[in-house]
Amino acid sequence: MNIILFGPPGAGKGTQAKALEEEMGMVQIATGDMLRAAVKAGTPLGLQAKQMMADGKLVPDGLMIDLIANRIREPDCARGFILDGFPRTIPQAEALTQMLTMENKPLCAVIELKVDENLLIERVSGRFSCAHCGTGYHKKFRQPKVEGVCDKCGHTEFACRADDNPESMKTRLAAYRDQSAPVLPYYMEKGLYCSVDGMAAAESVSKQIRDVLANRA
Ligand code: ADP
Ligand code: ADP
Ligand code: ZN
Repeated sequence: MNIILFGPPGAGKGTQAKALEEEMGMVQIATGDMLRAAVKAGTPLGLQAKQMMADGKLVPDGLMIDLIANRIREPDCARGFILDGFPRTIPQAEALTQMLTMENKPLCAVIELKVDENLLIERVSGRFSCAHCGTGYHKKFRQPKVEGVCDKCGHTEFACRADDNPESMKTRLAAYRDQSAPVLPYYMEKGLYCSVDGMAAAESVSKQIRDVLANRA
């Protein structure tokens, strides 16, 4: 089963993708994580993307499409994948349709996580993650069980994202409204669109997603 988790920054895409990965054995494909790894490694892609990401702007479609085209051909994607953060523009969505048709890997659902803007800002401003394994946390909503120790891997170093600041968040929300939200009608026309209440507790959002998938499988 191949799905897209769709929503603005802070909607809970990464949190839900990781839960699905654990519960259902699918693979999370998070373009933001892939880009941050490229920036860290100093690859040509990372060098091109770094400033745009810091400013909260979208990375050009051509670079993103190449990145995904290579990723979905990797063998682990045969288990089913969860796209988290792609597509974010109509040209990306159109390119994805083409590549999935060629690879014979149809989409099962595009699930929008609906969250009000005020809560998105609160989510993003409290977000941090384990520097070792990437598990996501939140200052108010999801603290590690033992303070300062990652639940998953036991490491004690955490990191905040450089772009999770109010200035960049403003640009990212505008980019979502102007460039990403128009992707939803594209998938409505294809009969793939579903939505869940992303304001609910994480476990409840997971349950809603499982119900959607059970209905569509
Ligand atoms: P996205 O990948 O869409 O940007 P994340 O999954 O990183 O969003 O979530 C943003 C922040 O909000 C994280 O700190 C995460 O722990 C927290 N979070 C995610 N889902 C929920 C939820 N349903 N309720 C409360 N906090 C959540
Ligand atoms: P969030 O968790 O806030 O939704 P991501 O981690 O998915 O953010 O993405 C971080 C940044 O990486 C984006 O602000 C953008 O600069 C870049 N990026 C990620 N995915 C894409 C994409 N599909 N198209 C263009 N830029 C992207
Ligand atoms: Zn960890």
